Amino acid sequence: MKAFFTDEQLLHDPQQFMRLGRISKPTDLPSRAHALRDALAQRGIALAEPADYGRVPLEAVHSADYLDYLESAYRLWRDLKMPGVEPGIEVLPNLSPYTSGTPGVARAPCPSPSLVARTGYYIGDLSCPIGPDTWRSVLRSAHTAVAAADAVLESGGAAYALCRPSGHHAHRDRASGFCYINNSAIAAQRLCERHGRVAVFDVDAHHGDGTQNIFYARDDVLTVSTHADPSTYYPFYTGYAHERGAGVGEGFNLNIPVAHGAGNDAFLQAVDQGAAALRAFAPKALVLALGFDTYKDDPISVLKLDLDAYRHIGERVGALGLPTVVVQEGGYMVEAIGPALDNFIQGFLAGR
Ligand SMILES: [Zn+2]
Repeated sequence: MKAFFTDEQLLHDPQQFMRLGRISKPTDLPSRAHALRDALAQRGIALAEPADYGRVPLEAVHSADYLDYLESAYRLWRDLKMPGVEPGIEVLPNLSPYTSGTPGVARAPCPSPSLVARTGYYIGDLSCPIGPDTWRSVLRSAHTAVAAADAVLESGGAAYALCRPSGHHAHRDRASGFCYINNSAIAAQRLCERHGRVAVFDVDAHHGDGTQNIFYARDDVLTVSTHADPSTYYPFYTGYAHERGAGVGEGFNLNIPVAHGAGNDAFLQAVDQGAAALRAFAPKALVLALGFDTYKDDPISVLKLDLDAYRHIGERVGALGLPTVVVQEGGYMVEAIGPALDNFIQGFLAGR
């Protein structure tokens, strides 16, 4: 299995995460990537550096005004002049627009040129601070997904994208949930341009809301997500079973929420249900959005999977027999995610 990563993805080093009205230390630590990198090395899988593809592959799923904002926000923030107040160390919103748009439909660019207004418009919550190196890291994280997609397009088989920051909560024009650029969606779009019919299977603990939203009105990309019941868990507002797509995309989105406290058996049943939907759709290629925050001791988990679960998930996904881009999403217990990835890869290779 080919694998991709670049150290530039470590530069993003968020300092603030607002939780219950308190500024907390973020959980998306650069050391997460070290743990995954070490696990691959121990399995003898070399990491290749992705090429610099620029903004073009990002523009295939994100709006240009949003990318313009992300690319320039930190520099403009440092230069902000407001009487009586200095800008903080990172860009963070203090406004929230009344509407968040229609699923599957691009919003108009922010009507105001004010950086404060644009920050409220494009940054969906208080988990996505923009620091001096955020743009470089999220751009390169996306390139890692593009390189893995291109490797699969070139020679079939499977490739792993060690994406950090993660991407599946990033919408077409909105950052949220530690995610800025939707790496899985970019990989899927790239595969779709060649194959015309692809699927995204998201097995992270959280609903892949950004990915669902991006493809919600399309029938050429099936989106399937297994995740903890969102009624009392992030992202709260989406991830319910009744969300099936819109317009020609009706029937091409499937959410399989799992009860909090569920262990291996219940989660694997949901994975089997998702795999059956994938088989029925018969995609030409697959993007697997792989998270390890389903693990029982993950600091933000509400599920109870043990490390064996990732081998079983790997077997089931491998058995689909599809050209597959595996994109790393969440997983925040640094000691567990390396063994989890190793188990997943063993299962995946055994299942094929
Ligand atoms: Zn997650």
